[in-house]
Amino acid sequence: MSKTLKPLLPGSTLGVLGGGQLGRMWAHTAQRMGYNTAVLDPDAQSPAGLVSHHHIHTDYLDPAGLKQLAAVCQAVTTEFENVPADALAQLAATLPVSPAASAVAVAQDRAREKAHFVKCGVPVAPHAVIDTAEQLAAVSDTLLPGILKTSRMGYDGKGQLRVSTRDELQAGWAKLRSVPCVLEKMLPLASECSVIVARGRDGAMVNLPVQRNLHRDGILAVTEVFAGNVPEALAQQAITAAKAVAQELNYVGVLCVEFFVLVEGGDVVSKLVVNEIAPRPHNSGHYSQDACDVSQFELQVRTMADLPLTQPRQHSPAVMLNLLGDLWFPKQLGSDPNSSQVEPAWHDVLALPGTHLHLYGKREARVGRKMGHLNITAATPEAARHTALQAAAILGIAAF
Ligand code: ADP
Ligand code: MG
Repeated sequence: MSKTLKPLLPGSTLGVLGGGQLGRMWAHTAQRMGYNTAVLDPDAQSPAGLVSHHHIHTDYLDPAGLKQLAAVCQAVTTEFENVPADALAQLAATLPVSPAASAVAVAQDRAREKAHFVKCGVPVAPHAVIDTAEQLAAVSDTLLPGILKTSRMGYDGKGQLRVSTRDELQAGWAKLRSVPCVLEKMLPLASECSVIVARGRDGAMVNLPVQRNLHRDGILAVTEVFAGNVPEALAQQAITAAKAVAQELNYVGVLCVEFFVLVEGGDVVSKLVVNEIAPRPHNSGHYSQDACDVSQFELQVRTMADLPLTQPRQHSPAVMLNLLGDLWFPKQLGSDPNSSQVEPAWHDVLALPGTHLHLYGKREARVGRKMGHLNITAATPEAARHTALQAAAILGIAAF
């Protein structure tokens, strides 16, 4: 750690743009370490705002709101990538902002993101940038079947269409209102994984272990983290690639890099392909709260306060189950959206050993909405999986 960096010590106030669950868990961690927190989010009931010392509810680009945030805190971070990069840039005029607006701008735009990966020498899915009708017409047939993704504002599988033919591609782009898009070749996925790295202002870098992720309907459903769930050579490759991506951005903060592991054979060039980055803690890193000696949220606090980064150690094999709003509407009630909410059977789940419940304080459950997650830790991977499957059965989550 460079001696020239003066850390922001506990007692200082740290701020975050965005008041969702990631901001809330960050705030809890910062407060545990003795910091005060400030949240800027337009929603007066935002999960992070509800638990912070300061809650400024203005629009992200409201000059008065940004000024107020800058006045109460000594450093600022973000908890979602679609915060206007301009808001970060404005704040950076008066106080340390991490990650920088320039890095967030890359993560906000799939085309720029892909170009960055190429620059880092990390394998990406074959793709084409589609900003114009001419570019659409020039797309190679080898990219079909593919997935058409809006370059900006996509998340949890939103803003994506699967297209098999040129006609479907044409219709799909029109359906996406002809906004700038990226067409990616549909790849044969054996599995998906992600790596969380944290990089300090002095360039020091640490990482969490490689996470194996299962998505359902474009949304993360299950993360499993224990030795052997990703082949060692691939895991090392993923960590090296993630660090290169962070380094090349001169990144400061917590960064998640998501990968596809491809089925071998055919024209597969590399088994590991980088998918996308998130300039913040990530859903796939939540297990670190209960399975590692330093969580992804503590890493975020440490990077923004210029505290030392120590390599996190995973002390327990872990499985994380996402708790979507669907669980509040059990199937036997039918799919009637007006059917009343039923609280999931937390009592039964918490009777299982090593279950850690995290709920985000959202009042209204909706199908597909992230309401919380359940971390399961155990002495062995087999025991963690066994308990996770029991919990999943109780909650009505499909087995994995
Ligand atoms: P989001 O920003 O919504 O997370 P992603 O690009 O990560 O969007 O896509 C969501 C999911 O869709 C991925 O996790 C993966 O399961 C699937 N997917 C995305 N791109 C491809 C691809 N090129 N080939 C196969 N599956 C893909
Ligand atoms: Mg994704």
